[in-house]
Amino acid sequence: MEKTLVLIKPDAFEAHHVGDIIKMYEGIGLRIAAMKLLQMDERLASIHYAEHIGRPYYEPLVSFMTSGPIVAMVLMGEDAIHRVRELHGKTNPAEAADGTIRKLYATDGRKNAVHASDSPESANREIHIFFNETEIYD
Ligand code: ADP
Ligand code: MG
Repeated sequence: MEKTLVLIKPDAFEAHHVGDIIKMYEGIGLRIAAMKLLQMDERLASIHYAEHIGRPYYEPLVSFMTSGPIVAMVLMGEDAIHRVRELHGKTNPAEAADGTIRKLYATDGRKNAVHASDSPESANREIHIFFNETEIYD
């Protein structure tokens, strides 16, 4: 069983889409292995988004991601990393396919409702930014 790190971003939390989004993960047969509500600070955001430091969108991304509570989750299931990325859709909701979470709930290419790990390596790294092993029920 593969695990992946998902964040429901401040825009989707603020708009009360948390329940509908979680329902979509469970709807494709994924199981919640860990979950918490938290507000990121700049340090946490810089660790999570380390590969993006220096990009033109980085500073506004950090401002956005630290602007309010988020839901952090570990989702578990067969091919979870790929299947969650497919369910989320493209980064820019204007390019996201119908029925994807970003098509349904994202505002723009920054305020795009959700984050998901993009590889087994990033999943392992990102899961342990947000969760201790004792908090993961796999
Ligand atoms: P994804 O979240 O789809 O894996 P990236 O890893 O490329 O996308 O980027 C991380 C996050 O940074 C995006 O989800 C989005 O919030 C923000 N971002 C990326 N590219 C842009 C951009 N061109 N303009 C504004 N925000 C961006
Ligand atoms: Mg990414």
